[in-house]
Parts: sequence; C-alpha cells; structure tokens
Amino acid sequence: IVADGGSTLVMGMQAYDMVLIFQFFLISIVFEGSSNGIGRATAILFAQEGAKVTITGRNSQRLEETKQEILKSGIPEDNVLAIVTDLTTEQGQDELVNSTIQKFGRLDILVNNAGAAFLDDQGRTGVDQDVSCFDRIMKINLRSVVTLTQKAKKYLVEAKGEVINVSSIGAGPQAQPSFMYYGMSKAAMDQYTRSAAIDLIQHGVRVNSVSPGAVATGFGEAMGMTTGMDEKYFKFMESRKECIPGGVMGKPIDIANVIAFLADRKLSSYIIGQSIVADGGSTLVMGMQAHDLVEIMKS
Ligand code: NDP
Repeated sequence: IVADGGSTLVMGMQAYDMVLIFQFFLISIVFEGSSNGIGRATAILFAQEGAKVTITGRNSQRLEETKQEILKSGIPEDNVLAIVTDLTTEQGQDELVNSTIQKFGRLDILVNNAGAAFLDDQGRTGVDQDVSCFDRIMKINLRSVVTLTQKAKKYLVEAKGEVINVSSIGAGPQAQPSFMYYGMSKAAMDQYTRSAAIDLIQHGVRVNSVSPGAVATGFGEAMGMTTGMDEKYFKFMESRKECIPGGVMGKPIDIANVIAFLADRKLSSYIIGQSIVADGGSTLVMGMQAHDLVEIMKS
C-alpha cells in the first residue's frame, strides 16, 4: 500500500470533525533544519486539516514548541489541548483521556505513537542486555498502548473511530540483536494490532499501524546519543543501498502522511488490522539489520 499524502488526503481529512489524541509529540530539532519527530509532524498535519488535537509528552518545553508550531499555521488555540504527562503511568493516561473528553466532548482517533529504545548502561547487547531495559521498553512501547486503548475504547466505540499504532520495521522478521527488546516490543505490538482490530471492528472501530524504517527524529537523542552520533548513523544508512535503497532517511512527515491515510475512512476503510511499511525500501533488501547499529553510532 502506498500512502502518497497528497491533496486527496487533505480533502478527505477536512470532511471530519475529529478529536485526536497523539500519545506523544516530538522533540526539539536534533540537527539542522530537520523536523522534530513523527508525533509532532502528525499533530501539525491533523490540526492543519481541522482536527482538534490533544498533544502530550513529558517535556513541557518541547510540547509547547509543538503547540506553537500548530498555532503558527493559524489554528485556533481552542483546537489544541497540551498535556504534560508520563504515559507509562495510569494517572497520566487517565488524565489524557479524561481531559480530552472534558474539552472536546469526544474522541475519534487514538494515535499510539510514543516509543523509545534504551541502551544497557553497561554497553551490553544481545541476550546479555540488562532486563531493566526490557522492562522500561515494554512499559512505554507496549503496555501503555494496551492500557490507553482500554481507557479510550468506550469513546472510540461511541465515535466509531480509529486507532493507529506506530510500530517499526525492527519488529522483524529480520533479527535485531543490538536492540532486541525494542524489536520484541514492536513485534508484540503488531500482534496486538491484528488481534485488537478483529476484536474492535465488531464495534465499528478500525485498528491499523504503520511500520517506519529509519526516520530522522529525536529517537537517538532519547536513547542518549549525541547529535554527532545521530548524524553518523543517518549518513551511514543513506550511503548504503543495502540499508536504505531510496538513499535518504525518512522524514517525520512521510510517516505522518501514512497515519493520516489510515485515519481517513474515505481513503482506507477496507484496511483492517494491517501495518503499512514506509521504509525507503529497507525491508526489501534486508541489509540494515546485518550491521551493528550501536557500533555505527559510536564509531
Ligand atoms: P522521538 O524520540 O522523536 O519521539 C518520541 C516521543 O515519545 C517524544 O515525543 C517523547 O516525548 C514521547 N515519549 C517517550 N516516552 C514517553 C513517556 N514515558 N511518556 C510520554 N511520552 C513519551 O522518536 P520518533 O518520533 O522517532 O518515535 C515515534 C515512534 O516511531 C516510536 O514509537 C518509535 O518506536 C517509532 N519508530 C521510529 C523510527 C525512527 O527511525 N525514528 C523507526 C521506526 C519506528 P517526551 O520525551 O516529551 O516524553
């Protein structure tokens, strides 16, 4: 499935009176002129198409930057609800759903986008990676998706709404030894997407996901990588055809467009429980995962 993110999508989105929760929004620019991440790009895109958006993240400054970006395009302030919270907490999730309902009166679309990978503080990879990394990764990448979807279900059913999960090509089927817990969390998310889709479609709610390849965002910074390390990783990936045949890192808007397509029933109503891969061709050549990603960033 190709998501072309063009004018037909824009026209489709304008027909909706939507309220969206973005499970997070993105961070400040990692390096020159690059955009700030998938969640931020998606929130801006949807807000520009007339949706009322709830944006969230733990970093209040970055959240405010996202809000200001939205307002800069002439969106009324009343269309934006910014909630600073930690999504791994029940309290944070309750606040997110309840405040959205309180402000906008409904919830049509849930974008489960917040995610992270953590490195072992001893530098271990593979099966020796500390289990505390496993716990932290599963909590944000998987558990929060499960519980937030539960909390939002009642409203999504009322709205006959949509859930879009942000997975990753790291889910497999290729191995991912440097970041195996991350890959495992996304593989589990893919099964969640399929199973939740079949469960919820009986109530008229669609569940789908997008599986991005390498996208230039704040993801590396969140792992503790410096800007220089990120740049090395991006250059490495772009310069090798076995990593990204398209020759360029993905931009957050590339993924935002896929999310918008999946959220738009006029365009994608017959797609249920699927994941759309947007990766510049990486999974077709299967070379990326053969490299040690941690070593690329460190070297
Ligand atoms: P970023 O690090 O730029 O964004 C991650 C976002 O998640 C931030 O806004 C961050 O906000 C939020 N977040 C993380 N932890 C929490 C938490 N505990 N509570 C609330 N918010 C949280 O990364 P991306 O935009 O790249 O990542 C978005 C999604 O895309 C993730 O699920 C990722 O796995 C996926 N993905 C990314 C790829 C890439 O190459 N970039 C490739 C494949 C998939 P804050 O820090 O303010 O809390």
